[in-house]
Amino acid sequence: MSLNNFKLDGRVAIVTGCNTGLGQGMALALAQAGADIVGVNLSTPDDTKMQVEALGHRFLDLRANLSDIGSIDGLIRQALTLTGSIHILVNNAGIIRREDAINFTEKDWDDVVDLNLKSVFFFAQAAARQFMVQGTGGKIINVASMLSFQGGVRVPSYTASKSGVMGITRALANEWAKHNIHVNAIAPGYMATDNTTALRADEVRNTAILERIPAGRWGIPADLAGPVVFLASEASNYVNGTTVTVDGGWLAR
Ligand code: NAD
Repeated sequence: MSLNNFKLDGRVAIVTGCNTGLGQGMALALAQAGADIVGVNLSTPDDTKMQVEALGHRFLDLRANLSDIGSIDGLIRQALTLTGSIHILVNNAGIIRREDAINFTEKDWDDVVDLNLKSVFFFAQAAARQFMVQGTGGKIINVASMLSFQGGVRVPSYTASKSGVMGITRALANEWAKHNIHVNAIAPGYMATDNTTALRADEVRNTAILERIPAGRWGIPADLAGPVVFLASEASNYVNGTTVTVDGGWLAR
């Protein structure tokens, strides 16, 4: 096999929530492999846009609140203005709410499940419809979590959403593999981003987490670069419905 199979030249990748954190890391990795990027963000992704353009690729800056799935069809239409086709979708945007299950509110349930699960499904559906119109196939990469595999503590809606993400990744892969549409997920372990600021600031929890990670460190956005390029490229053309863990060995314990 040639390393050319990992190249993404001429591809257009939509990445949600890429102004910061893991989404930014994955957008930059896809651009380094050759892709143009369509960033879908709540707020300005200036730093990501600058870095993608510095790599010699285009960055289309789209703004949307993905808690509302009403914007998704329009986002696909706008993404098509770049080259007329899309090839890769990274469903990365996500939030977390922490509270004892006994006190958990309907709002904290709905806010998390609407963004982390409902919009992931409907964005995947919209992308797959476009891949089918194009007849090109495509790559959909959902962002799962350790809590796709484990229960977690004080994060019931997050656990439900990320367990659901792993489930729909399999379900959609089953239906769409025959259209040459690959649906897979990446499950990051404990990564140093805004999402985990509270955990890392809690000395007791921080120490306990670090002691349990065989690699002995928090992950960083660049740790997702290899896996996301693999799943977005021809190198993974017989990989369907799997969730790749990138966790420094957390789940191996
Ligand atoms: P982050 O908070 O830095 O990034 C989250 C991104 O989602 C941001 O770009 C944010 O603007 C965007 N977003 C939030 N609400 C949105 C909305 N309503 N509409 C559109 N975009 C919205 O956190 P991160 O750690 O980079 O998280 C990225 C993904 O990785 C999330 O799905 C998260 O659940 C997942 N994840 C993170 C970790 C970790 O340890 N950091 C571990 C496993 C999974």
